Amino acid sequence: MRLAALYGPDGDSSSLHLEVDGGYVSVDALAAARGRPRLRGMADAGELFRRGEQVISELRGIDASAVPRVASADARLAPPVRRPGKIVCVGLNYLAHIEQSRLSRPGHTVLFSKFASCLVATGEPVVAPSITSKLDYEGELAVVMGRTARCVEAASASGHVGGYTIINDISARDLQIAEPQWIRGKSLDTFAPLGPVVVDAAAAPPIDAMRIRTYVNGELRQDAPCSLMIMGVPELIAHISAWITLEPGDIIATGTPSGVAAEMDSPVFMSDGDVVEVDITGIGRLRNPVVAAP
Ligand code: MG
Repeated sequence: MRLAALYGPDGDSSSLHLEVDGGYVSVDALAAARGRPRLRGMADAGELFRRGEQVISELRGIDASAVPRVASADARLAPPVRRPGKIVCVGLNYLAHIEQSRLSRPGHTVLFSKFASCLVATGEPVVAPSITSKLDYEGELAVVMGRTARCVEAASASGHVGGYTIINDISARDLQIAEPQWIRGKSLDTFAPLGPVVVDAAAAPPIDAMRIRTYVNGELRQDAPCSLMIMGVPELIAHISAWITLEPGDIIATGTPSGVAAEMDSPVFMSDGDVVEVDITGIGRLRNPVVAAP
């Protein structure tokens, strides 16, 4: 399943859809057409995962053919998870990114957080605030939790994953470096583009077959396989859930490979008018314009 949230006519509320060839099928319409009341009323993929395994299985098994679909050109996508309980981000999880950032490999895993208020969908703008002149991108694989994880072992951690999507860990490098906590450097409004869809774990390619590519105005800036993560997804879930309960719909941003602007000898940061795109094999492409704050 490829899970999308589409905005309703009010431009604020959303409803869960399945991405299919040529468009999107409303899960509410499917529920009505197939007589499946348990599938009704879901706003996004996070809500699906919170409803539990039986509802997820019911949706996986449903026949979406012959149900009217929203054409791609008419669809306005929302972030596929709109109100995660938490967004846990992993820093410095690719060796080449550490080396090219002229940092030393930390002796522990670096974690920080973003907020639901950071989320924007593909197509929505990243707003460049006036307090930064060093706006950077970080293309990353995002894990969406499907089941509660507390003190899970790496060997069984994959069973807690609901699906995968793309996150762009937008970073204001000047704020990130100037302040010991990264809240302002990493978590301003619009600093977490997410999507375009969540690919159900059962339908996603193996992580070792995924590749992250990030483009700014069409220029390839990042290009690396996800297999280069220092700490892989099962180990990250085990590490985080040892002390922080991960709940359905929570998001883990797994770290960025090399190629961010801050690594360049003469960094070319993002500014008004730029377009940043992150592509991951089997998931899709997350595309966002950058606009200066009014
Ligand atoms: Mg990052």
